[in-house]
This record gives sequence, structure tokens and C-alpha cells, in this order.
Amino acid sequence: MERWVEETLHSGFRVRLRTDRVLFDSETEHQRLIIFENEDFGRVMMLDGIVQLTTRDDFVYHEMMAHVPLFAHGRVRKALIIGGGDGGVLREVLRHKKVKSVTLCEIDRSVIDLCREHFPDISAGAYDDPRTRIVIADGTKFVAETDERFDVILVDSTDPIGPGAVLFTKEFYTDCRRALADGGVLVTQNGIPFLQASELKQSVSYFRDLFDDAYAYLATTPSYFGGPMSYGWATDNAKLRQHKPRKIAKRHAKAGGFATRYWSPAVQAGAFALPAYVRELVEA
Ligand code: SAM
Repeated sequence: MERWVEETLHSGFRVRLRTDRVLFDSETEHQRLIIFENEDFGRVMMLDGIVQLTTRDDFVYHEMMAHVPLFAHGRVRKALIIGGGDGGVLREVLRHKKVKSVTLCEIDRSVIDLCREHFPDISAGAYDDPRTRIVIADGTKFVAETDERFDVILVDSTDPIGPGAVLFTKEFYTDCRRALADGGVLVTQNGIPFLQASELKQSVSYFRDLFDDAYAYLATTPSYFGGPMSYGWATDNAKLRQHKPRKIAKRHAKAGGFATRYWSPAVQAGAFALPAYVRELVEA
């Protein structure tokens, strides 16, 4: 008997995925976690009924969350990832050999343990890289209490439901601002603007109160249904998001010119070219 799981993020729009083989399906300490095989998306993880990653298209989201801020900044030595327990963003950040340390603050240890077991190619050894430090904690607590300073803070969170809700608050962003080194960049997973417009608008309006430059960029991950996904962008230097592809390409070459399947210098520059329906959400 075929079994299908529904994505329940939106009130009036649902997507179903057939579970060809279920590898895990249970409550963790914080959320409902299911891992299954699907004919079209490969191996899939859902948390609280929302697709988090698939082995078919993870490269889009993870490349774009890591390489856009790191190549925009140009001198990242210390990175902080909030959430990101699947290890995909961590894997991509570690490809930047000049990065000295990456702290991953994930609230749910089970996500790391189960992704290590069922998605070994997503983390690809990143959890065990000598530059990696894993902290099991609520990201809000970590940034409120840390006295470290980070060149980038990447909030690879779930959507604002369950444990992820606190990662969309002004208090959290204020603490992120304090935990950023001078010239640092904050990037946030900020949903599908076509379906979650108010979420992006709210985050960027908080950024505008806290930083000199508050914007967003887009990338389309097929399994984040409903259109391009937005990444919230906050820094004090508006020039960082305006680098020409040539400058980004030089930095990429200096970093070893590693192969990517979605990100490129031209894609980075273009990701900030927002269509009017998104621009009106992020411009004051
Ligand atoms: N790429 C996915 C997306 O765009 O929705 C996110 C993937 S990652 C699995 C999301 C992670 O955020 C989960 O592992 C979840 O446990 C973690 N998370 C949620 N709330 C958190 C919090 N308050 N502090 C730290 N991690 C949190």
C-alpha cells in the first residue's frame, strides 16, 4: 500500500511526496523527524512536516547559503552556523581553506546523529573536520551568551514554527549583530517570498533597525515548493552585495576554484537582482 507524506507548512497549499522506503520516523526531543526515499527527490528529511533537504537538490541551498556571504565578505576566518544540523552548509563553508573555525550551534542532537547515519554525503566528513566545533544548544541562547565575534553568522534554521520560531525575532537578530565582528555578515533562511512574504518583510525590517544594509537574495531549490527561496542579508557595508562577477571570480580562484553545481560568481551577482514583488518586501 503506497504511503504519502504531506508538507503542512502552508494553510491553503499542500504537497505530497510518496515514501518509497521509510528510514526513520519518530519524535526527537524537539520535533517530528522523518527520513525516507522518494523516486524524484532521492533521500528526503522532513522536520515537523516540512521538507528540510533532499539528496537531489541540497547543493542549491547549501552552496548559496555559504558561498554568497563568504565571497562577498572576502576575509572570513570565523563562521557561526545556527541550525544546519544536516551538515550541508558546514560542508560548503569548510571548502574555504582560509576559514579557521566554524561553530555549528544545533538545538537537536538527533538531527546530527541521524543525518550522519542516513545522509553521509551531505556532511561529507564536515562534522569531523578539525576546524568544526559543534554546540548542542538553542541558537538564541548561544548568541546571547557568547563573547566571541564571527565574520559571518548563517542562520540555517527551520521555518518559524516549533524550535525555529525564536530565530526570527528582533532579540535574536540584535544578539547576532553583537556577535558579529566589524564588517561581518548575517544571512538567514527566510522562506519562499511568494507564500511567506510577511516573514521576509518582518526579518528585513528588523535588520534595517540594526544594520546599515538590509536586503535579501534568491535561489530556487526545487524541493522548497512555491518559487524562489529568500536569504535575508544584513551587514553594514552595502558594497558587499554589489561586487561584480569578476571580483567574485578572483576570490573564488584564490580559494582554489572548487567546483559547484549552482553557485557561480555570475549567479551570486544576479541573486541580489530582486523582482519587484520581492524588492517591495525588502526596500523601506
Ligand atoms: N535548509 C533547511 C531549510 O531551509 O528549511 C534547514 C535545514 S536544518 C535541518 C534546520 C535546523 O535548524 C534543524 O536541524 C533544527 O533542529 C534547527 N533548529 C531549529 N530551531 C533551532 C534553534 N532555536 N536553535 C538551533 N537550531 C535550531
